[in-house]
Amino acid sequence: DERIVSSRQIKEDETDNSLRPKCMEDYIGQSKVKENLSVFIEAAKQRGEPLDHTLLYGPPGLGKTTLANIIAAEMGVNIRITSGPAIEKAGDLAAILTNLAENDILFIDEIHRLNRSVEEILYPAMEDYALDIIIGKGPSARSIRLDLPKFTLIGATTRAGQMTSPLRDRFGVMLRLELYSAEDLEKIVTRSAGILGVHSRYDGAYEIARRSRGTPRIANRLLRRVRDFAQVKGDGIITKETADMALKALDIDALGLDNIDRRMLTSIIVNYNGGPVGLDTLAATIGEEAVTLEDVYEPYLMQIGFLNRTPRGRCVTLRAYEHLGVELPNGQQM
Ligand code: ADP
Repeated sequence: DERIVSSRQIKEDETDNSLRPKCMEDYIGQSKVKENLSVFIEAAKQRGEPLDHTLLYGPPGLGKTTLANIIAAEMGVNIRITSGPAIEKAGDLAAILTNLAENDILFIDEIHRLNRSVEEILYPAMEDYALDIIIGKGPSARSIRLDLPKFTLIGATTRAGQMTSPLRDRFGVMLRLELYSAEDLEKIVTRSAGILGVHSRYDGAYEIARRSRGTPRIANRLLRRVRDFAQVKGDGIITKETADMALKALDIDALGLDNIDRRMLTSIIVNYNGGPVGLDTLAATIGEEAVTLEDVYEPYLMQIGFLNRTPRGRCVTLRAYEHLGVELPNGQQM
């Protein structure tokens, strides 16, 4: 999907690796994750060992890939990047593993999407740095064990809950990335503006930050759009006014919600009386995939207190009614 507030990566994002922080000091926010990681990295370096296998989880666009690259840089090792869906056969993964050098990092994005036969290759690889392969067929088949170099697996996932427990249990370190505060996102926007060579004022950067759904990838994308408006309709400087103008033109409201968010909330209100409604039912009603709703839309709507997940389904809160300007149910008052 190409919606501007989507936290999924789109073409434009790929081209600007320039905005990706390259070292821990430039990686803004996530202070707890950074502190812990720095200790683990330092300890592993002192022992001359690879870092423990590390799982990074949280919504898309929060900096998991960026962090994996920074870990490699801090450890001073090579990183090999792939993703769950890209590894189709057990043999593909075996080939990747045997090509690693001692202490290398293997980064597997969307690791929850590995298929079962591929995943089973990972168990002995992670635990014993070993590859079990079967040679021959039928009664003469035998299994031989190959040694692999000591490596670190860094897995990234938007849904730790969907991973199998044998895989999850093999990670020594599990770090959860949180949505960013507007203050941290302002720093990210200001830093990116500097790299892009565009002048931004604090109020302009903050306005973009506030409307970026807690997500650096979205903040950087909105910055580029606001820059276009500032260039064409203003004096090239990113101010609150140019940010407002641009975001309004893009149908992004004061809280960073777009048409699809509003349609989702309105649908729960209009069709299901504010909820509860099951995720699959809701997804079918608004014509989106359930996974997309859960991974991409809901985290932010829950963070701003517009949506609750209950055992019986999703419910809209009174604050959402107020934001959408819809009359409260049964004459309730805020
Ligand atoms: P994920 O792998 O979680 O989907 P990425 O690592 O690709 O997210 O991050 C998306 C973009 O957001 C990056 O290209 C980077 O420019 C920016 N970004 C992410 N985290 C940070 C951060 N902590 N500080 C500054 N920029 C960040």
